[in-house]
Amino acid sequence: MSFPHLLPTYARADVAFVRGEGAYLFDEERRKYLDFGAGVAVNALGHAHPHLVEALTEQAGKLWHTSNLYRVPGQEKLARRLIEATFADTVFFTNSGVEAIEASIKTARRYHFANGAPERFRIVTFEGAFHGRTLAAIAAGGQKKYLEGFGPKVEGFDQVPFGDARALAEAITDATAALLIEPIQGEGGLRPVPPEFLRHLRRLCDERGMLLIFDEIQTGIGRTGKLFAHEWAGVTPDIMAIAKGIGGGFPVGACLATAEAAKGMTTGTHGTTFGGNPLAMAVGNAVLDVVLAPGFLEHVQRVGNYARQQFSSLIAEYPAVFEDLRGEGLMLGLKMRVPNTEFIDALRMHGMLAIGAGDNVVRLLPPLIIEEVQVREALERLSATAQGFVSKAQM
Ligand SMILES: *Cc1c(COP(=O)(O)O)cnc(C)c1O
Repeated sequence: MSFPHLLPTYARADVAFVRGEGAYLFDEERRKYLDFGAGVAVNALGHAHPHLVEALTEQAGKLWHTSNLYRVPGQEKLARRLIEATFADTVFFTNSGVEAIEASIKTARRYHFANGAPERFRIVTFEGAFHGRTLAAIAAGGQKKYLEGFGPKVEGFDQVPFGDARALAEAITDATAALLIEPIQGEGGLRPVPPEFLRHLRRLCDERGMLLIFDEIQTGIGRTGKLFAHEWAGVTPDIMAIAKGIGGGFPVGACLATAEAAKGMTTGTHGTTFGGNPLAMAVGNAVLDVVLAPGFLEHVQRVGNYARQQFSSLIAEYPAVFEDLRGEGLMLGLKMRVPNTEFIDALRMHGMLAIGAGDNVVRLLPPLIIEEVQVREALERLSATAQGFVSKAQM
């Protein structure tokens, strides 16, 4: 027996997509699928968006890569736009979400080092978190299934139960550098952090001289109907990791920070070969052209509200299949009463894609460009799939 040519770390569905258009994907047999996974919240503008295709192909004909040893005008432009749109004063570009998390952790630790307190390096995180798959990120995420067998857990991460203010107070010590949290847990099961809890974290950080880090890799770039999910709570972090949506399918991430929080990140302290590459920057700027255009975020809010209202009817209609609906904007989760993985496989047979999450949740993360008609189509497919589970139970 030969070993799989692709390292078998994924339980892949037996389907390969060869083409995409808007909210739809087409497989090798030309079957059409309604894509409510969007590459796990990556294809924010759907597939083959003309503005993104144009930006990428135009840049591809000019210049692919130079190096961060030189100025990269696309980085300067994208950084300026992100800064204008957020709390941040400075940006470091990466290729992925987890590298943005690594940069965030390093920035927080260096801040205290620069303040003459190098012993202050610990970071408090929350149960159910997901921050990526590097050794530091699995330590931050704290999930046993991702840590097991990979040697000693990277030192310096303390985890408390989700939303538990008392446990948090006990976990914070003079060695705590920062708090790290997703405003809505993605992999963890679409669990929104209550806005008052985010404000509580901000107050704690201000009182104790800690930095607040938001992981908006999944929630950012319009996913919840605001450019960033933390805007709903009216607080800002000191450091923020973004990725996924900002590349619209091209690999790119970023660590955003205030000037104060970033003060330890001096010349030579961090780097990347590919991060902020001209191709990625061309696409990132093109994504912002669309997402920051007047009315776009209102569109996400409107369609998101419509989706929530439509999908809520599923719970009343199929109480044996669905338990509740959670999330914000176009980041929705159906908590299931049947196994989420089985439901997702059946849904795919009905021509629709969705993504699993912890807590037996089915994530609905459509491209932000969908209209009401795609919501109705999704409702039909979800209903038909649910009907199959009900019929099966009756047999
Ligand atoms: C996807 C994700 C990551 C990791 O991003 P990669 O690009 O896979 O490294 C980290 N945090 C959150 C919240 C994510 O959704």
